[in-house]
This record gives sequence, C-alpha cells and structure tokens, in this order.
Amino acid sequence: MLTDYHLHLRPDDVEATAAEHFTLANVERYRAVASERGISELGVSEHIYRFRQALDVWGHPFWREYAHDDLDDYCEFVREETDLRLGIEADFVPGAEDRLANLLERHDFDYVVGSIHFLSDRALDMEPYGIWDGTQSAEEIWQRYFQMLGEAARSGMFDILAHPDLVKVWGPARPDRPRPEGDLRRYYEPAIEAIAESQIAIEVSTAGLRKLARELYPAQAFLEMCLDAGAPIALSSDAHRPEDVGADYHQALELLQRVGYEELCVFEHRTRRLEPIAASGAGSTGMSEAGAADMESEASPR
Ligand SMILES: [Zn+2]
Ligand SMILES: [Zn+2]
Repeated sequence: MLTDYHLHLRPDDVEATAAEHFTLANVERYRAVASERGISELGVSEHIYRFRQALDVWGHPFWREYAHDDLDDYCEFVREETDLRLGIEADFVPGAEDRLANLLERHDFDYVVGSIHFLSDRALDMEPYGIWDGTQSAEEIWQRYFQMLGEAARSGMFDILAHPDLVKVWGPARPDRPRPEGDLRRYYEPAIEAIAESQIAIEVSTAGLRKLARELYPAQAFLEMCLDAGAPIALSSDAHRPEDVGADYHQALELLQRVGYEELCVFEHRTRRLEPIAASGAGSTGMSEAGAADMESEASPR
C-alpha cells in the first residue's frame, strides 16, 4: 500500500479560498493523479492557521492574516463529501499546548500532522518574519529547531512529525542560510531521543525535492536514527496542487528501502496500524514529469 497523508487542497496564497478548493471536483483531481501513481490511501491536512479557531491558540500576525475559514466546515466537507482521511497540519507552539490540545480534541481527525515552521515568532521557511537575518548563527538555529522538534514529539498532541529536517529548506543556493559543518547527527540527537520515547510516526516527505534544498525530508542519517529508535513512517508529498500528489515517490521508496523500512503507517480516528509498502514499482509512473514541471518558488508550500 502507498499513502499520501500530507495534502493541501489549495496553494498557500491567502487568496486561495476554501470555497474554490474544498470541492468534490478538486478532490477528484487529486484522486486521479493518485490512482495513476498507485496511491490508494489519501488524506488532507490543511494548515490549522487558515481557520479562525486557530487564533485561540496563537495570535502571530501571519496567522491573523490567514485565519479566514471555519474548521468545522472543513471537517464536515472532508468527512461527509469525500473519501479522504481527515487530517490537519498543526504547528507546535510552545506555551500553547493546552489551547491546541483543546482545539484538536474537539474534532474527529484521523491524524494530526505536527509541524514546526517558526522558532519563537521567526519563520524558518519563508521570507516574511524570517529567522535568517544574521542575528542567530546556523548552529544556534539548528540546535533550537531539533530541540523543539523533540518537544513537539513529546507533547503527545501529534500522530505524525512533518518534514522532520525542514531547517535545511534553503539548501546550498542560500549560503547566507547555511547548514552547519560536519556530521549533522549531533543536532538530530535530542529529537531522536524524544522520538524514541514517544514512538510518534515520522514523515518521509518529497516536498524538500521541490524546494531549494532539493532533498527528501528527512536526510538518510536522520531516518536511520528513527529506524534504530523504533519509530514508524508516514509517507507524504505535501502537495498543494493535484500534479504533486505522490510526486517523486520513487526517490522516497528508494530511501526507505536503503534504510530498511518495510511498512507504512495507516491512520483512522487517531489510531494507527502498519501496512507493508507496495512491493512493485507503483508510484513511479509519471514522477519525472511532475518533478521537472515548474518548480515551485522557495517561499511557496510550507
Ligand atoms: Zn504542509
Ligand atoms: Zn509544513
């Protein structure tokens, strides 16, 4: 079986409305690409900050700008009109754990994808509110990032840890946003310790291939440490448009095979089970086409 659990039904532009994108016709477009690529299990995980209710959790100006939609309407649409698993991508905001937990508990999600896009109020992966202004070293940012990833894992609020080494997003094209020198496992360690304790599922995401990083999330060394820690895997593309559903899965499947993962997590009402990864080359058709087609801008999907 193949899954794609980290899907957004719309691009990240603030103008991309729910009314336009939360439609059966749009879901059909995602389904069509998924079936071409041999992916049967799909779930959506819209950004929590696009819903008004999220402002009870955090009042960052970026969230205030984006929080237009109603979370109950989204859940109702996905549950009642589609055959998609119902997920959500929720940012881990230290200090707001109780408020986020309350919000999540009020909805019947199949899974919650936990993300870190901000360290304090500074963004890792976009320009506005960006953290890479030279006031903190790359070493400091990497250390803080993986520490916080561990806290997110330990919080118990999330089923899947999204794009685990997102901090590398800018890649070598931005030497002003470098990755630290040498063996990066020293940064991963605090996160891996928390992953081992919590047994949270780790997302293997092809989104990094479409960013300046040009790499899968996470790096092979990180994934090897996850395997040693006994953590299972969730496979996703983080697509924000139909053509990216299952994008570049052949690369993700090669990585999983190299590291020694043979099963994927499947989620229902926040319980998970493991299924063998499809043995055939399923998921490889049409990949290069989608991968090569217009690379998204670095400020795009998150
Ligand atoms: Zn996402
Ligand atoms: Zn994200």
